[in-house]
Amino acid sequence: MAAVATSEARRAELVALFSTVSSCTACPLAETRTKVVFGAGNADAELMFVGEAPGFHEDQQGLPFVGAAGKLLERLLGDIGLSREDVFIGNVLKCRPPGNRDPQADEIEACESHLFRQIELIQPRVVATLGNFATKLLSGSPTGITRVHGSEQSVRLGRSDVLLYPIYHPAAALYTRAMLGVLEEDFARLPQLLGREPAPGLSEPVSTAPAAAPVAAEQEAQLDLF
Ligand code: URA
Repeated sequence: MAAVATSEARRAELVALFSTVSSCTACPLAETRTKVVFGAGNADAELMFVGEAPGFHEDQQGLPFVGAAGKLLERLLGDIGLSREDVFIGNVLKCRPPGNRDPQADEIEACESHLFRQIELIQPRVVATLGNFATKLLSGSPTGITRVHGSEQSVRLGRSDVLLYPIYHPAAALYTRAMLGVLEEDFARLPQLLGREPAPGLSEPVSTAPAAAPVAAEQEAQLDLF
């Protein structure tokens, strides 16, 4: 597929991709999902987060990270002067695995082209992978998150050159206090990786990301997805 140049054209392609993915039946998760969770946020985001897969609440609402892990993600974003509207949040899998079990290899394989296309269209500068599944998929390496968290690497994803930045999954940090501290430290480096001033005292907003352009009327109901 051809690279799409202007911000407006890339956004229109993202809306088209959303429509396609919304009726995806490429793997058996289509039979058990309530809603496809395409991802949401700024279609022009410099920073994109990639989680694992929708959980119960995400599946019900069709939006990523709306449960407890999402609340933590929002707090961490706030600490560096950003909000959900500044970034794009997606997942490796767009449909919930039953009972929140781990994604399976065949499901990841069936779904990964959607994620690669999202990255190609959004053209983020930094892709922060949350936890093992996103990190292994996008780094192309089996090395786990415990070893690679906090270490950025330049990678080519599809047609995009991005800075890949693996960090712990917020859901894991909710259960392990020490992991939360590490996640906070890794998060604090994000402004620097984005080429911005570090958030002074983590209090002043550093966001200069453009607001998302208005979505087409028929997409409006999708809760400002992008
Ligand atoms: N965990 C994820 O990995 N993704 C979500 O969207 C929610 C929780």
